[in-house]
Amino acid sequence: PPVPDVEALQHADVARLLPRPAAESDKYRRGVVGVVAGSARYPGAAVMAVAGALAGGAGAVRYAGPAADAVIARFPETLVTAGRPAGAGRVQAWVVGPGLGDDPAAHRALEDVLASDVPVLADADALRLLSPEALCERRAETLLTPHAGEAAVLLGLSREDVESARLSAARALASRYGVTALLKGSTTLVAPASPASPVRVNPTGTGWLATAGSGDVLSGLAGSLLAAGLPALDAASVAAYLHGLAARRLGAAPLTAMGVAEELRGVWRDVSIG
Ligand code: AMP
Ligand code: MG
Repeated sequence: PPVPDVEALQHADVARLLPRPAAESDKYRRGVVGVVAGSARYPGAAVMAVAGALAGGAGAVRYAGPAADAVIARFPETLVTAGRPAGAGRVQAWVVGPGLGDDPAAHRALEDVLASDVPVLADADALRLLSPEALCERRAETLLTPHAGEAAVLLGLSREDVESARLSAARALASRYGVTALLKGSTTLVAPASPASPVRVNPTGTGWLATAGSGDVLSGLAGSLLAAGLPALDAASVAAYLHGLAARRLGAAPLTAMGVAEELRGVWRDVSIG
């Protein structure tokens, strides 16, 4: 039978895919996720990406960037690397971009991360800075997580073009850049690198997620799942699913990005049980 063009991620799939520590696990085997985010101007983005990463099932979160003081003040569990990400030990997946800015240090950090041989999630400012050539040379998986505006820039289209043809925009991102592409919005689409596989559709979110920082939490979460060993397509779709359920659990009231990150633990328990 022909492969369907889209498929909905089912609850049972998510339950099966959630990483769980084996009896013999240690923090390194559970995965170390590196976060390169934040700047003097946007230190909060680093905190929110780390919050998502700490809720995503990796064994440790390592932060490499200019907002280490803010990160440590909120999350003393975080390992900090002073200096460039290239010097960071044992990172099994990188998240790069939220609030990163575009100064020379941001460029260098992105270069380091893309030159690594572990999976990379690029979001937000990293999507503006990255060069297609750097992506072509990557040996491990790359996951891009744009909203419609960021996708439009990557595709040389208008935001309206993307909004009116979201499925083909997600496919075009994946094929043009040779990546897995998560296109954010009221329903989130995850296009696999291979055009032969269906695009995953996630409907779990609510409009309350349209708030500052919620995308940064999603990036950290998906990066943590990458570090725990999930393939990019699964990491992206499971992250979108859990992130949306956290918003649902918070109900019909304004939420905060940090509130979503905190709610993820309850979501995790719900999915594991039922
Ligand atoms: P960002 O645009 O990077 O701040 O990310 C926003 C996050 O909120 C993404 O996960 C979106 O999918 C989600 N989101 C934004 N608007 C909506 C909406 N109307 N319904 C459901 N989720 C949304
Ligand atoms: Mg964003």
